[in-house]
Amino acid sequence: MVAPSSSPLHTAVVDWFAAHARELPWRRPSTTAWHVLVSEIMLQQTPVERVAPVYDAWVRRWPTPADLAAEPSGEAVRAWGRLGYPRRALRLHAAATAIRDHHDGVVPDDLDTLRSLPGIGEYTAAAVAVFAYGHRHAVLDTNVRRVLGRLLGGDALPAPAITAGERARAVAVLPEDEATAAQWSIGLMELGALVCTARSPRCGDCPVRTWCRWHEAGRPAYEGPARRAQAYAGTDRQCRGRLLAVLRESEGPVAGGALRAVWDDATQRERALDGLLDDGLVVLAGDDVYALPG
Ligand code: SF4
Repeated sequence: MVAPSSSPLHTAVVDWFAAHARELPWRRPSTTAWHVLVSEIMLQQTPVERVAPVYDAWVRRWPTPADLAAEPSGEAVRAWGRLGYPRRALRLHAAATAIRDHHDGVVPDDLDTLRSLPGIGEYTAAAVAVFAYGHRHAVLDTNVRRVLGRLLGGDALPAPAITAGERARAVAVLPEDEATAAQWSIGLMELGALVCTARSPRCGDCPVRTWCRWHEAGRPAYEGPARRAQAYAGTDRQCRGRLLAVLRESEGPVAGGALRAVWDDATQRERALDGLLDDGLVVLAGDDVYALPG
């Protein structure tokens, strides 16, 4: 384990990030804490290229939490477009409302208050505290977990779910200085996205190769539990996406017939529709008439 104070390893990551960081919309100097929160929720399950245009439109339309909270949650679902996992749009709307109502419209900067917002979990709270406010916390997304697992643990891939040991290791290796810690965290994340990728890590281009235990061990194969690739075609998730797209693209409520037209399997379609109603992504607007939430 490297020392927690600033070390050559930290410097290698911070310098590499300064030289290689991508220009992304949420890294512009004008980015606010609200923008960071929006981007982090969008990026959780959706790739950068798909998030960027939706993010841009979103922050133009709703530059502050109060702007979003002033509109019905259905507008958030509509603007979410095809990012997938649309419950995130409702969570963002609920968080914006709580920020307006309980925090004077300002995104909180401490972990506990961030975590108390609806739908904001451990990861998102840490990401906002670090990337928006420059605080010193471990930020453990998929990319960071993979890089630290290889670098410090010698593991090809991290465990399916985050472990307490992993979290403790990430905290132990944080630089002591707040600003360096923030740069280290974002640098690790970028390294995982661009160099230390899941399938084909480019160790020859890696700034931390000389410290990497997995590389030193000859890159042994992953031996943990089987990891299933998530299928999409034909799933309830695809069916939900089709049904929601009909509602998003309509100016107002739609008749059930319009939903039945986009998915043939009646059992699956009804199950997906029930799920959307249960999740609050769709509401009943009459007898066999459906709408986005008001
Ligand atoms: S040396 Fe290879 S495995 Fe190790 S951190 Fe760099 S890219 Fe990842």
